[in-house]
Amino acid sequence: MNQARTCVGCRQLESRTNLLRVVRFEGKLQIDVSKKLSGRGSWLHQKLNCLDLAVNRGAFSRAFRSKIDNADLAILKEQAEKMLDK
Ligand SMILES: [Zn+2]
Repeated sequence: MNQARTCVGCRQLESRTNLLRVVRFEGKLQIDVSKKLSGRGSWLHQKLNCLDLAVNRGAFSRAFRSKIDNADLAILKEQAEKMLDK
């Protein structure tokens, strides 16, 4: 059975194959396309809406237990916009 994870945006449980993994790697937030980077990960639906929800709720700062700069969030969003459907 597929492991379920909670989307940090909408807080719904989802199978990890349907989620994006976001990691903090070398101090920067990034989308872990391979889902293999080490370190603490956050899980997010492949929807910009969920990314916005997560950003608005400060979910990444909480998930990574440190303050995430707005600049880092902007970079993450830019990455996501290239990958995801609107
Ligand atoms: Zn979601």
